[in-house]
Amino acid sequence: MEKLMTSNELMELEDQYGAHNYHPLPVVLSKGEGVYVWDVEGKRYFDFLSAYSAVNQGHCHPRIVQALNDQAQVLTLTSRAFYNDQLGPYEKYVAEYFNYDKVLPINSGVEAVETALKLCRKWAYEKKGIDRNKAKIIFATGNFHGRTLAVISASTDPSSTTGFGPYMPGYEVIPYNDLEALKTALNDEHVAGFIVEPIQGEAGVFVPDEGYLKKASDLCKEHNVLFIADEVQTGIARTGRLLATCGNCSCSKSCEHQPEIKPDILILGKAISGGVFPVSAVLANDDIMLCIKPGEHGSTFGGNPLACAVAMTALEVIKDEELAENAMKLGKVFRERMQNLVDKSDLVNLVRGKGLLNAIVINDTEDSSTAWDICMALRDNGLLAKPTHGNIIRFAPPLVMTEEEIHQCCDIIEKTILNFQK
Ligand code: PLP
Repeated sequence: MEKLMTSNELMELEDQYGAHNYHPLPVVLSKGEGVYVWDVEGKRYFDFLSAYSAVNQGHCHPRIVQALNDQAQVLTLTSRAFYNDQLGPYEKYVAEYFNYDKVLPINSGVEAVETALKLCRKWAYEKKGIDRNKAKIIFATGNFHGRTLAVISASTDPSSTTGFGPYMPGYEVIPYNDLEALKTALNDEHVAGFIVEPIQGEAGVFVPDEGYLKKASDLCKEHNVLFIADEVQTGIARTGRLLATCGNCSCSKSCEHQPEIKPDILILGKAISGGVFPVSAVLANDDIMLCIKPGEHGSTFGGNPLACAVAMTALEVIKDEELAENAMKLGKVFRERMQNLVDKSDLVNLVRGKGLLNAIVINDTEDSSTAWDICMALRDNGLLAKPTHGNIIRFAPPLVMTEEEIHQCCDIIEKTILNFQK
C-alpha cells in the first residue's frame, strides 16, 4: 500500500510547487464533518473560520453533498449558450428567497462584486443619465471586496494594492461608518453607487454604529444613488439573520440588527453553496438588472446546473435547520463568555460582532505576531482560527454548532489565552 504523506511533507509540497500567495496556519486538513475538521495525522479540531464563512451549513453537509452527487451524475455544465433545467427553478427560488425580481448567477465572490459594479455603471448611464464614462462609485476605507484589479483599486490595504497599479478610475473612498463623509460625497452628481459591507469582516469584524446602514441607504435614495450591499461574508445567516442588512425580515425586539434595509443591489457568495462549490449571486429588481443586455456580461461557469442544484439545497438547509436563529442565540453566548475573558485577562481588549461573526482584539500592536501566536496555541488545543491583523482574531464557526459545543470552544479559548505567554 502507498505510504500516506505526513503534514510536513504535504506543506513542503505546497511550498515548493504552489505560488506563495497565502500564509496558512501550519495544519494540513484531510476531512471535515459539521463543526469539525481533522488533520492528516487524525487530530480533530473545531473549525472557527468556516473557510471565511463559506461553510455556514457545516462541513460536508449530507444533504448538500447528496445534491452535488446527484446532479454530477446527470449534467454539470452547458454554458449559457443553451438553457438548462436547473437554472430557471434555482433563479426563481433565489429571487423569492431574498425578495428581488432577478438574480445574476456567477461563481466567486469577487466576480459578483465586479458584476455589481458593472451593473451600477450601466444603470448610471442608462437610467440616471450620467455622461458616458463619468460615473463614480463610492467605497469605504478598510473595505475588502476581493482580489481582482478593479476591486483592489478601491482597497486601502497596502498589502492588497502595492505593486499592482495602475488602478481603476471612477472610485472615491470615504471613511467607513461616517455619514457626514457620505453626505459630502453624494453631492457629486456623477455618483452612481455606494458599495459597503454591513460588517467589515476582513478588516477585523468592524460593526458600524447603530443606524448607520439605514441612514446611508436613505441618503443614497435621496440622491438617486444605488446602495450596494456586499454580503458575501455577512450573508446567509452568519450574523444571526438571513442577511445583515435584514432586507426581508421583520425585526423583533431581540434582533441585534439595524432597522430594515433593502439594498438596491445585493451581493452574495461563499455560504450560498455551503462551501461545496464556488457559487455567487447578484440580486436586483428589474429596473436595475435589465440594464445589462445579452452578451454584455457573463461567465462560462455562471449558472451551471451543478452550482444551481448545490446552492438551492444549501439555502434550503439554512431555513430547515434554522441556522440564522442558532447563530443569533449562540452569538450571544459566545460574546458573553468572551466578555468574561476580557474582564479577566490583560491580553484581550474587547470582543465585537453579531451572530457568529465575531472577533477579539488583542492588547498589542497591529504589526505584532501575538494574534498569530495565540492562533498557534489554539491549534495545539484543538481549535482553528486565523488572525485578520496582527492583533485581531476572527471567530466564525459553522452555524450548525450546539450550545454545549460553543461552551467547549469558549473553554478552549479561555484556557489558551489565560495560559498564553508572549
Ligand atoms: N466580499 C467580501 C465582503 C468578502 O469577505 C470576500 C472574501 O472574503 C469577497 C467579497 C471575495 O470573495 P471570493 O474570495 O469568493 O472572491
